[in-house]
Amino acid sequence: PDVTERIAPPGRRPGGFTPESARKDFPILHRTVNGHPLVWLDNAATTQKPRQVIEAIAGYYGTANSNIHRGAHTMAREATEMYEAGRAAVADFLGAPSPDSIVFVRGTTEAVNLVAQSWGRANLGPGDDILVPVLEHHSDIVPWQLIARETRARVVPVPLLADGRIDQDAYADLLSSRTRLVAISQASNVLGTVPPVREMTALAHRYRAKVLVDGAQAVAHRPVDVTDLDADFYAFSGHKLYAPTGIGALYVKPGVLADLRPWQGGGNMIDSVSFERTTFAPVPHLMEAGTGNIAGVAGLLAALKWFMSFDRDAVAAYEDELTAYAQQAMAMVPGLEILGSAPGRIAVLTFTVAGHDPAAVASWLDRDGIAIRAGHHCAQPALAHYGLESAARASFALYNTPEEVDELVASLLRLHESA
Ligand code: PLP
Repeated sequence: PDVTERIAPPGRRPGGFTPESARKDFPILHRTVNGHPLVWLDNAATTQKPRQVIEAIAGYYGTANSNIHRGAHTMAREATEMYEAGRAAVADFLGAPSPDSIVFVRGTTEAVNLVAQSWGRANLGPGDDILVPVLEHHSDIVPWQLIARETRARVVPVPLLADGRIDQDAYADLLSSRTRLVAISQASNVLGTVPPVREMTALAHRYRAKVLVDGAQAVAHRPVDVTDLDADFYAFSGHKLYAPTGIGALYVKPGVLADLRPWQGGGNMIDSVSFERTTFAPVPHLMEAGTGNIAGVAGLLAALKWFMSFDRDAVAAYEDELTAYAQQAMAMVPGLEILGSAPGRIAVLTFTVAGHDPAAVASWLDRDGIAIRAGHHCAQPALAHYGLESAARASFALYNTPEEVDELVASLLRLHESA
């Protein structure tokens, strides 16, 4: 069936953003899978990398490899300058007031664990509440459970409404003088929904609670301004933003920096060491014990430069149109249901197809060269809200085209016909 018959695909506007202008930079998008051109719709798990990022990593190892902050030689200085330029670029990207408020981490998971262990251990105690919406990724639930167990604090789930939005009335009721921290995703990796994080943060601050925002899914799809959000902590992973795996960042609001305690000890994070008395470096170095992922920072820096060369509002508008187009087209598949009906989602569509196990749906699409994810998406409480243990998920990036959506839908229709 011609799925484009009834639905207008997003336009390729003259002078506006076109997916081809991004796509040309991705060598991997030219490969085939199972004899078909690759259709990569697993972007919420990880995005592909533009050649600028691949070249930056190869260039770093090929011409510039050195440890940083140590050794009075030219290449150590160059590597240090690049690393700190990466920190400044992240600060700029997030709207942070200073590079000193940016800590390099492996990714969102490590950032949340860092806050739980470093801030949580020093600031949580018996009877304290950590509010966590049911929608959260496991990496924004389990670190809180671990530190709550040690400090005898409580992790309190904030319920969802039927359409997948966070129940704001329940949130307001759960906040109290016992609330020490609220942990919220700026965009859900399951429903794609975008909660009112700024308003939720302002409300939490009335109770003097800190707010950690998990930006893993948001950064590639929505402009971020941590100062405007007034977040106390903001975490993201480079690999969901066209950068390599193993590098990400944690923003810590300047007023909160002093509340952080070292969470790992070693080189780089000290001022001087003796068996009598060890003194420490200031943040962010205090939080970065040991040799970091220097090549990863080279890749992240290249990814940010590449990504910020596009008109971000135009990219977001294109992705929103593509997602709306996909949502309408997928609705033509008999038995297909998309989770969550709240408006304003990012480019994530999680779905079930009646009579087909999500894993079987993913395998079927894989035979056509189409990559999606199936499983619990590291968000079992969110799926349980819909009475599910597993679901399929198609997620889009700026390089995806309406033709790829058509291929997804055509393959899903063939699956239906095959049954
Ligand atoms: N938070 C959200 C909303 C996510 O989607 C993910 C990854 O899927 C994470 C956290 C964890 O990210 P990472 O595995 O890169 O640490």
